[in-house]
Amino acid sequence: MNKYDVAIIGGGPAGLSAAFIIASASKHLEEAMNRNIIIIDAGHSDALKAKFHNVSGLPFGIEGKEALELTKSKLENFPNIKFVEGNVKHISEDKDYVIEYRDFEDKNKEFVVSDNLVLATGFRRWNIKGLDVPLKEFERSENPTRVSIENTDFKVRDNLYVCGLLSGVSSQWDIVAGSGSQVGVHIISKWAGSWKVVHDKNEV
Ligand SMILES: Cc1cc2nc3c(=O)[nH]c(=O)nc-3n(C[C@H](O)[C@H](O)[C@H](O)COP(=O)(O)OP(=O)(O)OC[C@H]3O[C@@H](n4cnc5c(N)ncnc54)[C@H](O)[C@@H]3O)c2cc1C
Repeated sequence: MNKYDVAIIGGGPAGLSAAFIIASASKHLEEAMNRNIIIIDAGHSDALKAKFHNVSGLPFGIEGKEALELTKSKLENFPNIKFVEGNVKHISEDKDYVIEYRDFEDKNKEFVVSDNLVLATGFRRWNIKGLDVPLKEFERSENPTRVSIENTDFKVRDNLYVCGLLSGVSSQWDIVAGSGSQVGVHIISKWAGSWKVVHDKNEV
């Protein structure tokens, strides 16, 4: 079984942002070097239904599909992130997290192991078996079927994080992406033993 430092379940704006912060820290922080991240994504982000006119970092009027592709295109700059198209079915928690997913490419049942787990699966349903999570109703919507996971500053418990809509934040690209970035900051700061942020300098 392949072993990762961080497994992110869900590759919408929240999960991608968490991955970018962690992966970019490898250039700055010794403790973040040689860390591997996997994102497993089932490919039905809410963003696919949107057309964005109000997101600061996206071109005005961009279709959701294009916005996600543009964001995902940055993955090629981060060799320490592996992006897999698949559906996570079961997660067991012992010393590490053991994640079972159906790989969309080879159609097989696959397993990976990770020290840290980030849940970023959106608010439509919770359908992953095995993992004990404090589910609750999503409060910032009139739709009573939406779900979230109780957390304190995006931490559920040691080594378990939640971001994006599943963390209970409002449904706006910038906000969910920000929550993912905060999770990234939590993880690199835990490795470093003190608060860290990743700031690249323009050397011009
Ligand atoms: C019609 C519409 C219009 C919108 N318009 C705007 C707008 O104008 N401006 C704005 O800022 N926001 C807008 N939004 C909101 C924005 O798209 C969402 O807030 C954002 O996509 C949520 O990000 P997320 O990463 O939390 O969840 P998502 O983007 O939903 O991503 C979750 C990902 O997790 C994956 N996943 C779920 N379960 C599993 C599993 N078991 N295994 C593997 N992967 C899994 C899903 O496939 C998905 O890719 C709109 C949303 C909709 C629906």
